[in-house]
Amino acid sequence: MSQQRVYYFDNNATTRVAPEVIEAMLPVLRDHYGNPSSIYKFGSQTGVEVKAARGQVAALINADPREVIFTSCGTESNNAALHSALVTQPGKRHIVTTAVEHSAIINHCAFLQKQGFEVTFLPVDADGSVDLHLLNQSIRPDTAVVSVMWANNETGVVFPIEEIAAICHSKNTIFHTDATQVPGKMKIDVKALDVDMLTLSAHKLHAPKGVGLLYVRKRSKFQPYLLGGHQEQGRRAGTENVPGIVAFGRAAELALANLQDEDKRVRRLRDRMEDAILAGIPNTIRNGAKEPRLPNTSNIAFDFVEAEAVLLMLDQIGICASSGSACTTGSLEPSHVLTAMGIKPARARGSLRFSLGIYNTDEEVDHLLKHLPQIIKKLRDISSAGPGAPAKPVAAARAKHENPLPV
Ligand code: PLP
Repeated sequence: MSQQRVYYFDNNATTRVAPEVIEAMLPVLRDHYGNPSSIYKFGSQTGVEVKAARGQVAALINADPREVIFTSCGTESNNAALHSALVTQPGKRHIVTTAVEHSAIINHCAFLQKQGFEVTFLPVDADGSVDLHLLNQSIRPDTAVVSVMWANNETGVVFPIEEIAAICHSKNTIFHTDATQVPGKMKIDVKALDVDMLTLSAHKLHAPKGVGLLYVRKRSKFQPYLLGGHQEQGRRAGTENVPGIVAFGRAAELALANLQDEDKRVRRLRDRMEDAILAGIPNTIRNGAKEPRLPNTSNIAFDFVEAEAVLLMLDQIGICASSGSACTTGSLEPSHVLTAMGIKPARARGSLRFSLGIYNTDEEVDHLLKHLPQIIKKLRDISSAGPGAPAKPVAAARAKHENPLPV
């Protein structure tokens, strides 16, 4: 049975594991299965591999290896950062964040609100940017932590993290940034940024799922989120995911080496794709600022269609893209990020995210550009909202469990 070719434009959801990364982790999976905490050489040897990987990821973000805590994912790192800031400062019960964070921050904050903590969700403007003056005003003497993502996963919009860190520190407040979407796409230097805590996730940079890291600045107070054994110098209990960590290390090394490529080649591909869509398909508009933006991300509203229908038709020709973040795909709610930017629900529901990566080629972009205009036209022809006579509104068809798509 021949498999359909995959045209992958969803690198912000997850990435293909690099062949070099698979090579690095195979011996660990197959042979070096000892527990790093064991006393005998066969176990402790894996501890040496974890140490080497810690050095590699530390180099990616210009940290001291001792400032790196390996976790199970970006979500855990984000949860651990907020948890530590609150528990180490019991008198402070207020958090500042933004309305466009990933659900790993937003939903944790919503939970904390139910526990009696106060949370300020800063609004964003139509470009998806935060008002730094408002951020400054929102920090109170009882603010335990400010958590603002470095780059938005849906729009790619980049926040001025260095300035935000300076504002926080002028008010003696801890600053955490969710940098999950950044590595490999932009240079990360935690010293220059002067952040207190920073989150990364390995599966966004060509390593497998199930491993992340939390950078915690040297000499800061830290209270672990997971309690148990003494792994990670007592800062995160649980037997280390050694193959995942080794993979993360190798991927970090490659990401450092590929930085220029992603910034130049991927940016050119993304811009070619975006310019062609905006110029060639009527009633389309980019969501979010053109710059500063991740070089790989493009979020485009296609008026008079539902993104879900477009995604299903793209899927039929092997193209993977997304609407909103992967974690909210499948819900009929419009994206909270686009809604926070003031985009009307109908337009938000017609918005698609294309996120490119180092493996994308011009030929793949050509495939997308060849088929997308026809798909949009077909769907608009049958839409009740679009120009032309209504045939079968997508939402009504879905409610009746019919296939809304032309076969
Ligand atoms: N933060 C951002 C900005 C993300 O894009 C993601 C993943 O989509 C996460 C956090 C969660 O990372 P993980 O899937 O490793 O839990």
